[in-house]
Amino acid sequence: MFETDRRTFVKLTGGAAVAAGISGFPHIAKAAGGKVVVVGGGPAGATAAKYIKRGDASVDVTLIEANPEYHTCFMSNEVIGGERSIDSIRVSYDGLKKHGVNVVNDLVVGIDPVAKKVTTKGGQTFAYDRCVVAPGIDFNYGAIEGHSEAATATIPHAWKAGPQTVLLRKQLEAMPDGGTVIVVAPPEPFRCPPGPYERASMIAHYLKANKPKSKVLILDAKDAFSKQKLFEQAWTKFYGFGTPNSMIEWVAAGKNGKVSKLHAADMMVETDFDKIKGDVINLIPHQKAGKIAFDADLVNDKGWCGVNKKTFESSKHPGIHVLGDASDAATMPKSAYSANSQAKVAASAVLALMSGKTPANPSYINTCYSVAGKDHCFSVAAVYKYNDAENKIVGVEGAGGLSPLDASESDRKRELMFAHSWFSNVVKDCWG
Ligand SMILES: Cc1cc2nc3c(=O)[nH]c(=O)nc-3n(C[C@H](O)[C@H](O)[C@H](O)COP(=O)(O)OP(=O)(O)OC[C@H]3O[C@@H](n4cnc5c(N)ncnc54)[C@H](O)[C@@H]3O)c2cc1C
Repeated sequence: MFETDRRTFVKLTGGAAVAAGISGFPHIAKAAGGKVVVVGGGPAGATAAKYIKRGDASVDVTLIEANPEYHTCFMSNEVIGGERSIDSIRVSYDGLKKHGVNVVNDLVVGIDPVAKKVTTKGGQTFAYDRCVVAPGIDFNYGAIEGHSEAATATIPHAWKAGPQTVLLRKQLEAMPDGGTVIVVAPPEPFRCPPGPYERASMIAHYLKANKPKSKVLILDAKDAFSKQKLFEQAWTKFYGFGTPNSMIEWVAAGKNGKVSKLHAADMMVETDFDKIKGDVINLIPHQKAGKIAFDADLVNDKGWCGVNKKTFESSKHPGIHVLGDASDAATMPKSAYSANSQAKVAASAVLALMSGKTPANPSYINTCYSVAGKDHCFSVAAVYKYNDAENKIVGVEGAGGLSPLDASESDRKRELMFAHSWFSNVVKDCWG
């Protein structure tokens, strides 16, 4: 099914885990006690907590998470498209507790890098030897005039899964046949680069079967997007893309697609030259690192957390490691699988540093599947290595790549099975 580079990817992926000292922790350093506090229980924080504890049971690992349970953004577009339930993307923290991680349900409001203490809204204080910060993203509402957190009560972003996902789904169910759904896509960098286009595809998938006179209009802050040819091919096949009756229309930034204002009460967005009304507006805001990263002085002037990419230790505060979407880990995309891979690298580095050893030179992986129509899925995959001289994460040439454009229907269907199997595996690896 795949070209040679995809096969190389699979081989390298196995090799990568061993190189990072992850697979069964063959080379892991023993820290002999000590305390690690992890802030945030998404894929990055949960994986780090689990693998630090599994690497050395004598380390006291506390994970502090604001919510009692987690909803994965990955596969949330299938909830919006009516293909799965919200319950199917809900994850509990019981699995981490079984590994011996002390899970605390509270909001972290302060991290003191000198006193090495984390404080919570509930009034608790946790001392640490090393702290892992993985708060994910926050939204830059100010980038679009008229937008605010309050507006998301009627204009959902659904870019953090849970109630927002359910709200968007309900709005689609309630809209009239013949209505318009506007998807506003953000500028780089943002969580899940192919996500807005998978979102538009899954909305069109639902509308095609239930409200076939309706339209999905994507207004983009960019002139090109991830997996573009594969998406456009799928849209042509399923939704008449490129014809006057296309169910999906994509407007690039350079063609007046950039939204600058929101008129929430009028269900309207404004670009440089147009005011456009929608029956449903899914405005995905501009993004930055999660709030606690700002409060703890971990961000750079771009709004993300600079790190040593070998260990994910903050460039600003030693002893604190920042992982996942909040970190500036380019060239890796902001994805759950990147977060999971980075967390294993960081877990290994944290244990090495706590026992006075030199962290191993890591490799990292990412795969991201996109569902674009009935039994139609494709992916991008990459293996990365660390470039010590430049503190850079660089792609390994010849490993990974995109699903081929000329793949057969059965290949596309098989990729959907791979996507669902990836989902079960990654959820188990992070929280199970
Ligand atoms: C629609 C959509 C589809 C996606 N599909 C895919 C996909 O197919 N594959 C893929 O790999 N990725 C996908 N992603 C991206 C993926 O969801 C993110 O990259 C991933 O969740 C990042 O993980 P994280 O742990 O860094 O952050 P998050 O998942 O955001 O986790 C952060 C956690 O920290 C907690 N937190 C934040 N601040 C505090 C605080 N002060 N105190 C306590 N807790 C706090 C939050 O409550 C949250 O639980 C998708 C994203 C979207 C939006």
